[in-house]
Amino acid sequence: MLPYGRQWIDEADVAAVAEVLTSDWLTTGPWVRDFEHAIAARGGAKHAISCTSGTAALHIAYAAAGVGPGDEVITTPMTYVATASGAMHHGATVVFADIEEDTGNLDPEAVDAVVSSRTKVIAGVDYAGQPVDMDRLSAIAHRIGALTVEDAAHSIGSTYKGRPIGSLADLTTYSFFPTKNMTTAEGGAVLTDDDALAVRANEFHTIGVSRDRSTYRHPDEGAWWYEVPAIGLNYRLSDVHAALGLSQLGKLDDFKARRAALFARYQEALADVDELRLPTVRPWADPTWHLYPVRVLGGRRREVFEKLREAGIGVQVNYIPVYWHPVFEDLGYRQGMCPNAEQFYREEISLPTFAALSFAEQDRVIGTLREILGA
Ligand SMILES: *Cc1c(COP(=O)(O)O)cnc(C)c1O
Repeated sequence: MLPYGRQWIDEADVAAVAEVLTSDWLTTGPWVRDFEHAIAARGGAKHAISCTSGTAALHIAYAAAGVGPGDEVITTPMTYVATASGAMHHGATVVFADIEEDTGNLDPEAVDAVVSSRTKVIAGVDYAGQPVDMDRLSAIAHRIGALTVEDAAHSIGSTYKGRPIGSLADLTTYSFFPTKNMTTAEGGAVLTDDDALAVRANEFHTIGVSRDRSTYRHPDEGAWWYEVPAIGLNYRLSDVHAALGLSQLGKLDDFKARRAALFARYQEALADVDELRLPTVRPWADPTWHLYPVRVLGGRRREVFEKLREAGIGVQVNYIPVYWHPVFEDLGYRQGMCPNAEQFYREEISLPTFAALSFAEQDRVIGTLREILGA
């Protein structure tokens, strides 16, 4: 089965990992430090905190933002469940706002309609790699004293109005799962320019431990002393994973170019198919295309999905509206809340898109899809 996404690992990646395994450090060593510096530089942010997954990164970001019981976090239903559940782990209520019907990204106008005095965070997602309109989301958030979180699991390497993803929101989160734009096997990161947010993120991801003597309640103890001002979790990334990440990061521009070429070929080869609606690109977006999300019109999504799978083409649906999951239904969320997201879900199929996909393999996807549609 041709997958919808997969990693690209080369000899340099293997060598980087092997080097760590025989070094003095398996975790919390120099590779983690170097990876964090490189990720922060790439994202145009002052700080990066690496962690064990994109899900952990969201949990950490919401912790740093001070999200807690009684707070509301506004986000999109067109995402992976972790964008919402990360806030719920802190006891917050998630408020879903609808998407722009063309890009699949959170609609600032829909956000503006649901903000309240309880809104603590507005969390956008860069769907498929295309940046959410963060200038508009930030303007809304900062007007009401809330913070922005950008779930950039799809979009490392993308730019928004020429600025890198990582420099736009108060807190940005990445995922380094194998299907994403670059990988550490499992892994993630939180980026921020704000020193206080960075301290809180760092402490939460390392069990709550503070090593800043200037903030200690009991500063007169010996050199062994550290304090836990608030509890956290062990979300540390290992040096083994960080070494892979550092090696992968060096290839991100190449990965982006390959994904861009695949995206352009899909756009070109499917442009005349009336049964499909192809993705829209905003003029200010230069995405690293994580997904190629095509919309199947005329109620034929299920048929097309099943026939592509039968033909050995591993398509995916991104995403089931988050609040359709039973855990949300049990909390009182109901179908119909975000009609654009629901319509998007009913039509969407993600075609295979990854740096190592050959043009010949892509041509087979295109040919099979056209054949199924009789186009
Ligand atoms: C993959 C993904 C996550 C979670 O990342 P993991 O590393 O798999 O935990 C969160 N949000 C979005 C939009 C994702 O695609």
